Amino acid sequence: MSSSDTTTPGGQTRRHVRVLIVGSGLSGLGTAIRLSQAGITDYVVVERGPDVGGTWRDNTYPGAGCDVPSHLYSYSFALNPDWSRSFSPQAEIERYLQGVADRYGVRDKHLFDCAMTATRWDDTARRWEIDTARGGFTADFVVSAAGVLAEPNLPDIKGISSFEGEIFHSARWNHQASLAGKKVAVIGTGSSAVQIIPAIAPQAQRLDVYQRTATWVMPQFNRPYLAVERLAFKRVPGLQRLIRSLIYLVREVFVLTQVKAPWTGRLLELVGRAKMWLEIRDPVTRRKVLPQHRIGCKRMLVSNKFYRTLDRPDVDLVTDGIAEVRAHSIVTEDGTEREVDAIVLATGFHVADSPTFNLYAGRDGRTASEAADAEGYQMYKGTTVANFPNMFFMLGANSGLNYTSLIYIIESQLNYVIDAITRMDAENLQTFEVKLDTQRAYNRALDPKIARTVWVGGGCNSWFLDKHGRNSALWPDFSFRYRRQVRTFDLEAYDTTAKTA
Ligand code: NAP
Repeated sequence: MSSSDTTTPGGQTRRHVRVLIVGSGLSGLGTAIRLSQAGITDYVVVERGPDVGGTWRDNTYPGAGCDVPSHLYSYSFALNPDWSRSFSPQAEIERYLQGVADRYGVRDKHLFDCAMTATRWDDTARRWEIDTARGGFTADFVVSAAGVLAEPNLPDIKGISSFEGEIFHSARWNHQASLAGKKVAVIGTGSSAVQIIPAIAPQAQRLDVYQRTATWVMPQFNRPYLAVERLAFKRVPGLQRLIRSLIYLVREVFVLTQVKAPWTGRLLELVGRAKMWLEIRDPVTRRKVLPQHRIGCKRMLVSNKFYRTLDRPDVDLVTDGIAEVRAHSIVTEDGTEREVDAIVLATGFHVADSPTFNLYAGRDGRTASEAADAEGYQMYKGTTVANFPNMFFMLGANSGLNYTSLIYIIESQLNYVIDAITRMDAENLQTFEVKLDTQRAYNRALDPKIARTVWVGGGCNSWFLDKHGRNSALWPDFSFRYRRQVRTFDLEAYDTTAKTA
């Protein structure tokens, strides 16, 4: 079937495509390429931003980079021998993704500056109706690749809207705002903050770091690659794949410390403690950064500069809760008022409660958010959901990883997506919808594994947990086991309808 216009009962003309992809980050771009490679070319990618890249286009904050090694952090079909360092900076990953989009010729399948505003299932026509900033579509299949860490969490702190200086979220960095010579506050001490803080401290007049929860910090062995190494990655057959496989295997060890035998994390905690002693001279600061939860409960931070920056005389680590933000200051619960010219909100993202889920209305009219409220944020194999026929969620519930490359999961899911669409065609089927009982049984089977993990037993709160306190974000096993379960589309788990003539 090729692209064509359709007229809906409401009289609107919509462009019909076989597959519509929402978002062009790592997941959406990967989907586009894999669809093209499978010969499924009747698709469009709607992307709210001006280019591909997703999180690597949006997170341009100073110091932004990837804490997963470069050689693992690329598509398996597009290895990059030219990475400049063992851990890549943001701009290099963004350029890599732009280059991949060009090389695989999928840019002309994109509509940029084209936010999806509503997607609803039409049960009569048995297809999706999608509204976007650049017109309406209908689609046989929708792939939601809108991103997990895409919707900034803006803290609801008393008086914050009355602040008169510069204020912005880490993922919406205002490059027009100079921090040089200013009194700056960073709220949050997660993965983004530990990259930002060392990068901005040298230019700020002074920096206050507001920490709500101390988190374990691990060292990073980040170094530039020598020209001879890059040449070898290019010329020696199999070398880069071998290194990639070794990195992959080493990182799977973290599954032991978080899932299989969390007590082994204590060894890593020793590394964390040694790091505090070696890098922080001030005993008060050292006490403040000592986490009160088991390592891995929150995502481990990786930095060689964060602690040393906290130790600077012009940097203050504030651990009293924030009571109020005023026009030119922040007041903490102990009554201290600190003057500030600029506030950086490194306060994370909406994950299980992403506003994007309000935009998808399923077969019974309920949105994905409403369905998540009723059932919990649960999916089948992290990819499909009852009540949402012919829809795939990239990096959906319980498919995330916090210790290795998410691209591994994305490519695993893409095997499932491509096989599903191919089989639907081969078997002359119009719709699939996962059986609710099957979805529930799948999640019941995950529960005992999740219960053993440090994410729920480690004594912390994190974005891995939904509002019911269930880990709905992370996959609780080795990542190769995830890959195995989505290798082929298991049609028997789904209710299907046949194509009508
Ligand atoms: P995050 O890990 O969710 O951290 C948010 C920080 O803001 C936490 O310290 C949190 O404190 C604090 N916070 C939130 N609301 C607050 C409030 N109202 N008052 C005071 N503090 C508040 O967010 P992130 O640092 O942006 O990282 C999110 C995820 O992005 C990471 O876990 C990681 O998966 C990914 N990431 C990856 C990389 C990479 O190198 N690969 C880099 C950056 C980010 P609590 O801990 O008390 O909640």
